[in-house]
Amino acid sequence: MKKHKPADTIQDIQYFGEYGGVNPSIADSSTFTYLAGKTMEMVFGGEREGCYLYSRHMNPSTGYLAEAIANMENTDAAHVSASGMGSISSTIMQLCKSGDHIVSSRTIYGGTYAFMKNFLPRLNISTSFVDTTNLDTVKSAICDDTKILYCETMSNPLLEISDIKKLAEIAHENNLKLVVDNTFTPLIFSPANLGADIVIHSLTKFINGASDTVGGVICSSKEFVGELIDVNEGAAMLFGPTMDAIRANGILKNLRTLPIRIKQHSRNALLLANKFKELGLKVHYPGLESHPQHELMKKSMNTEFGFGGMLVLDVSSMKNAYQVMEEMQNKNIGYLAVSLGFYKTLFSAPGASTSSEIPQEEQDEMGISEGMIRMSIGLDNDIERTFQKMKKCLIKTNILK
Ligand code: PLP
Repeated sequence: MKKHKPADTIQDIQYFGEYGGVNPSIADSSTFTYLAGKTMEMVFGGEREGCYLYSRHMNPSTGYLAEAIANMENTDAAHVSASGMGSISSTIMQLCKSGDHIVSSRTIYGGTYAFMKNFLPRLNISTSFVDTTNLDTVKSAICDDTKILYCETMSNPLLEISDIKKLAEIAHENNLKLVVDNTFTPLIFSPANLGADIVIHSLTKFINGASDTVGGVICSSKEFVGELIDVNEGAAMLFGPTMDAIRANGILKNLRTLPIRIKQHSRNALLLANKFKELGLKVHYPGLESHPQHELMKKSMNTEFGFGGMLVLDVSSMKNAYQVMEEMQNKNIGYLAVSLGFYKTLFSAPGASTSSEIPQEEQDEMGISEGMIRMSIGLDNDIERTFQKMKKCLIKTNILK
């Protein structure tokens, strides 16, 4: 295993532009010329590597971004795609065939849940959704046809922490691939160092951090990434969820500031979580000692980046949730919007939005309640002032007496 210095690698990795620019030039081409027909034939035949052919396969700009994120995740290779779902669906389609089975955490992003629950059965691929914080439940869900153990490092929306080390042991004892979605916790967790085989991000969120584009990445071994872009059998190549070169260049530039952004998101979220708790409100935040996996997170995280920017406040009813979110938006504290990782705080009620694909009885079983507000805490310079404004909104809407 390579020595892992996540923050430093982002700053150290250098790509110069064509004229000595401090940012790389954008390879704004869908196709690439060849001096000899024979070379092109060899590339298509898989006998020659390292040549650009067509941008759905590889492009220098998407390649720079992929390489930088692979460095951050300490994997040998990565492939970027047009969205987080593009990365998740390509990975699963690459690993599974008809008759296969997946064991997945039951608390995952609603789109991933819908893909596994509603779409994959059409291809005769089934999924058991289990509580992955209970390792015995995970073990008993595995059967002969299981190919993937799937989880999120910090789950959406409940912010449960996965024990990646133990899940990797279980996966490898049973010859499965452990696939981990690390979208909520870039830099904070390094799942590959803990044993994950494939690490995925929605780049739409913290990594890009500007809420101006969607994107995804799959980090893994050279072998797996090679399979994904294989011209004859690769899911990323054949389904075609390709990221554009211009977008890749923009995301790479934003990636440079990820370490300072993550520290500020974490600092702000921890302060708010403590303040909400002091007010007697129900708050889920893994940085609080009361969080069920607080100790596990402390043991397995890269501590300098804090406990992350995601926080869940439970205000008992959907009516309360809608009222206080609308009031906070009116007071310009943040925006009533899905997604995460923006400079401004974003909030939504997960039960009726990002987790609405999950049926009500299953949401109840998981512990997603209707009064929950999922917040992606922003980069506010004076978070104490933001807290005072939030408190006023909670009083105005009668949530705080
Ligand atoms: N994974 C998680 C944890 C998410 O929250 C999301 C989107 O909200 C996705 C994956 C999907 O990413 P994208 O919207 O970029 O396809």
